[in-house]
Amino acid sequence: MPVLSLKHVKKSYRLGDGSEFPVLKGIDAEFEKGELVSIIGESGSGKSTLMNIIGGLDSKFEGEVLVNGKNIGAFTEKELDIYRKNKIGFIFQSFNLVPHLTVLDNVALALTLSNVKRSEQIARAEKMLEKVGLKDHMRKKPNQLSGGQMQRVAIARALISDPEIIVADEPTGSLDAQTTQQILDIITQIAREGKLVLVVTHSEHVAERSSRVIRIADGQIVEDNPGIAFPPAEADTAKPPAEINKRLSFTGAVKLALKNMKEKKTRNILVAVGASIGIMSIMLMLSIGNGIKTYIRDTMDSLANPLAVEVTMPKEESNSAAGPQAFLSNTYFAQEDIDKLSGLEYVTAVEEHFSAFSMGTAVASVDDRQAPLIMVSTLSQYNTYDLAEGTMAKQNEIIINQAVKEDLGMEEIVGKTVTVTVQVDNRQIVIDTVVSGVLSEETASMSGGMSQVLLYYDDLKYACAQQDYNLMPTGITLISDTQEHADNLKNTITDMGYSGSMQETMVETFTTMLDLFTGLLAGIAGISLVVSAIMILVVLYISVVERTREIGVMKAIGARRKDIRRIFISESFILGLAGGLVATAITFLIMVIGNAVIHSHFGVNMILISPYYVLFGIGISILISVLSGTLPAAKAAKLDPVESLRRD
Ligand code: ADP
Ligand code: MG
Repeated sequence: MPVLSLKHVKKSYRLGDGSEFPVLKGIDAEFEKGELVSIIGESGSGKSTLMNIIGGLDSKFEGEVLVNGKNIGAFTEKELDIYRKNKIGFIFQSFNLVPHLTVLDNVALALTLSNVKRSEQIARAEKMLEKVGLKDHMRKKPNQLSGGQMQRVAIARALISDPEIIVADEPTGSLDAQTTQQILDIITQIAREGKLVLVVTHSEHVAERSSRVIRIADGQIVEDNPGIAFPPAEADTAKPPAEINKRLSFTGAVKLALKNMKEKKTRNILVAVGASIGIMSIMLMLSIGNGIKTYIRDTMDSLANPLAVEVTMPKEESNSAAGPQAFLSNTYFAQEDIDKLSGLEYVTAVEEHFSAFSMGTAVASVDDRQAPLIMVSTLSQYNTYDLAEGTMAKQNEIIINQAVKEDLGMEEIVGKTVTVTVQVDNRQIVIDTVVSGVLSEETASMSGGMSQVLLYYDDLKYACAQQDYNLMPTGITLISDTQEHADNLKNTITDMGYSGSMQETMVETFTTMLDLFTGLLAGIAGISLVVSAIMILVVLYISVVERTREIGVMKAIGARRKDIRRIFISESFILGLAGGLVATAITFLIMVIGNAVIHSHFGVNMILISPYYVLFGIGISILISVLSGTLPAAKAAKLDPVESLRRD
């Protein structure tokens, strides 16, 4: 059985005006292994068209092309891919080496596409390069070789999967006479090893050395003559490698993508940096929001006793409409409230409190020194207070904060007698007391540095009683036995219509607003992601256009559409990953510098990145990049190999 037989092969192109343009008008021929066939004909006579059909690049023809008895015209796309990969080796006039791959990688490309083990790839490619005399050049890139050397690389590439048929379309067309001889020697040797070699040529030298010469004119075979007699084919002793049907692996695709991207390093780095800006802004916004919230929560937690539930009277509607004045004014508990609250389940102790913002009405004075007080509140025996100096207050003693100490301007304040004047329900209550300690700087920053004194409720109540006023608490702390019961209590008191601690309510409102705000800012930053997406889209489109030929070559050596798509998607994946990593690096840098600056001014770290933000940022970056890569990748996969190889 002939290895290749052509039966009435016809091909015509449909032109723009709807007319048919016949190129091949019925080709009949049979070919055996070991033949070296020269195909000669005028330019435009249909030689390349015929080679593309035999090579499985063009399956739109009439008639039959039987390879080992099987009609490739009836092959499915998958069968054609395997056919191109295993049965056919293509050699082109313009070599068509992949510029960014080394000589070795170019030769091994078909094996890479078949997911052959790297060590085997190298071994087989080296063997082929040895055969064409280029083993010493295998680490070079194609542009470091001469024309003849490039064509020899192309021959090694065509031979790598040990195909039965070699199709060479004007392989010596771009070479000088001497190099032509070298190439011819190699091609002759290939035929003598038992392969069918079809060579399209204009060169008489080539025709002279062939075992058969076919002349094509006007889409028909007009001559089919035997040439020089070849000695019987040398038995190929080496066991042929097994047919490969495996596919390009994901790591293989990533490696190919990386090799290409390395070639366009600057461009890709710039794109990754550009793409990272949007992601970086989002990560930074989230980190700032997180930093502020964590700071507030930590400070709250460090001050609050987890078993204590603070209760305040709800603000009356009419009051709250009166503006900030009303917000700062006090609502006092009635005795029945206190009774109701103390009777609740899980309550093990009750502590009464008073706290008031005083807009300049409260004052602490030692001799003739005075410190205006912004806040007067009561101490809780269930809290611990972090002191910078002195000791915890006992009965008839108070604790002040740094602001008060500074306002009084006294180095030695602990142990001094002070007079505190505080406005309670429109009365001026005066208490003579002793400073026992000063709050630490950290606790002070919680109250925003406002001057504040803390005293015992009983002392204040006694002082009020001295002035015929019966003090009622503005806040009540319920102490529970377990954290869980404390949480239950919190719910119960809100159900009953009471409010939680004033601080807690303020923090809740603040964090809700902060969430909204950071979300909004992150959303605005997100718009730049659209820019990144378009940028990646454009860059990959350009890449597809630049690499049209390369894609054609890959298809000619058996790459499936899926493989091509995978390589381009891998590129967008790598761009996305790189963008995400760059964004993470920049965010960390800003965090370190930003925090250092903020810390030196305010003593806190305001930017707090979380591993979730990093994962989220990188994930989004990859997602956007891969999504924008799908269009160019699909375009690349769809390219018609014949069309893309025709481009010069
Ligand atoms: P050769 O390789 O012998 O020089 P080709 O096989 O490349 O010739 O081309 C044969 C004929 O087919 C030419 O006349 C060419 O113009 C025509 N042809 C090739 N491709 C197309 C196409 N895509 N559309 C229309 N005509 C085409
Ligand atoms: Mg041609």
